[in-house]
Amino acid sequence: MPHIVIVGGGLAAGTAAEKLRDEGFDGDITVVAAEQYTPYQRPPLSKGYLQGEEGADAVVLHPDDWYAQHRIGVRTGVAATSLEVAAHRVVLDDGSTLAYDSILLATGAQPRSLPLPGIALEGVTTLRRRDDADRLADALRSGGRRLVVIGAGWIGMEVAASARQLGNKVTVVDRDPVPLATALGAEMGAVFRALHEEHDTTVRTSAAIEAVTGDDRAQGVVVDGDEIPADLVVVGVGAVPDTALAETAGVRLLNGILTDSSMRTDAPDVFAAGDVANPYHPVVQRHLRSEHWDNAIKTGEVAARAMLGLRASHRSIPYFYTDQYDLGMELSGYAPLMSSADVVVRGDRDAREFIAFWVDDGTIVGGMNVNVWDVNESVQALIRSGARVDLDALRDPAVPLDSL
Ligand code: FAD
Repeated sequence: MPHIVIVGGGLAAGTAAEKLRDEGFDGDITVVAAEQYTPYQRPPLSKGYLQGEEGADAVVLHPDDWYAQHRIGVRTGVAATSLEVAAHRVVLDDGSTLAYDSILLATGAQPRSLPLPGIALEGVTTLRRRDDADRLADALRSGGRRLVVIGAGWIGMEVAASARQLGNKVTVVDRDPVPLATALGAEMGAVFRALHEEHDTTVRTSAAIEAVTGDDRAQGVVVDGDEIPADLVVVGVGAVPDTALAETAGVRLLNGILTDSSMRTDAPDVFAAGDVANPYHPVVQRHLRSEHWDNAIKTGEVAARAMLGLRASHRSIPYFYTDQYDLGMELSGYAPLMSSADVVVRGDRDAREFIAFWVDDGTIVGGMNVNVWDVNESVQALIRSGARVDLDALRDPAVPLDSL
């Protein structure tokens, strides 16, 4: 009986396992997940789950009995420590070994560390895992705490919004001149700054973040020479792909695990998916690593098909979503092309009901719909077409997107 091993307990791992069965794979499947949970998804951890509005059901991918029903073995609380490519086997930290025919590395990413004095004090945390969210929720749910968020990226801004909605005092600090500067640029980053400031969050940008103060516990963050009092500090300064296992196998790495567009690495029968993978994207003709929910699903599915020898190519346009206060948005686009593009707005930016397009030499390379719904497919179609668009028509909400 052929045996496929999936290493990872996140969305890419869970999706790949499901896809293998959907495609009719009848062999053995084993999922090895280092955390104590069956595969789960992370977006609610900074939003509804943190706020207590959603429970574990919103997080887990499949109920426990689903795995037995689909003959999928799950080893939770066990990490794979070494991958022996030539022998086709993987060693686990409980001392056991699994032989495989194909293996999927879906080991995700780890929060980036910040080399700052005081960063190891109690009360300073990152948010990646369900246990992190549980601890943070315990601290924030009763309200009245002073939270400093270091890093105005997606996770930082979502935690800030959740904490504020739970009645805490929140300050966000970032070295960049606007929140979400890397993802969105100055103009759209300003939309999120205004949203948070309207909700009484202090947003300090272009900030020199110098230290976390305190004896055993964090009691403040020093920014531009001022000490901002803090009961709790959340550090959200990005994530780095978790390549520890791949490194033991000598798999080719560059900003994650390099794969072709079918998520195949350079080692025989070794595949990668999700945040850890850096696949070649045939549309933009470069490797494109993406740390988003949709990417974990799409690449997990592509890898599953490729492991079965089916036609598989990852060509999706990167897609991301966020919810902060009453702002919901979807963002589609190729980040490396968006960074040098012009922003064209269609709709009412001040009312936060608009679509922003990133336009590079007359063609659309990215689009973000903010509190405007059911347009994502049209936005993606415009990006995919690569056709030059009339900018006046693009700005005009009366012109249907599908007619551009
Ligand atoms: P992960 O979810 O990181 O899972 C990898 C798993 O593998 C981990 O459980 C890890 O413990 C395990 N593992 C690692 N090494 C080993 C090993 N050697 N042996 C066994 N197991 C191992 N994206 C969006 O598009 N929208 C959002 O709103 C959004 N919100 C987010 C909020 C938070 C708080 C976070 C952290 C992420 C968010 N994301 C969001 C990003 C999205 O969740 C990730 O892109 C997605 O989780 C990636 O899935 P993955 O399966 O590749 O990796």
